[in-house]
Amino acid sequence: MSQVATPFGSRCEELKEPIEGGDFEPLITVGADDVIYMTVGLVDLEEDEPGLVDHPMFFCPFCGSKLQTPEDVRAKAGAEGEDENDEDTV
Ligand SMILES: [Zn+2]
Repeated sequence: MSQVATPFGSRCEELKEPIEGGDFEPLITVGADDVIYMTVGLVDLEEDEPGLVDHPMFFCPFCGSKLQTPEDVRAKAGAEGEDENDEDTV
């Protein structure tokens, strides 16, 4: 029992596909912090490429099973964002 690779994907076949994405660029991604994000929109930047607006995904959009909690996300992604001070260490 040493399966660590895809904690989310292993739960749901339908979710696995967009995450592990084959021929297309998935709008559902697992970040470096192991938090699963969905892209909810595009935003116009002043550059050529549009920016992606990501939001943590708490429930599977396909089967409705719970993927993670806001607490999980905060704990995993924690160090970044908002305007806490930057003194966090690695
Ligand atoms: Zn699912």
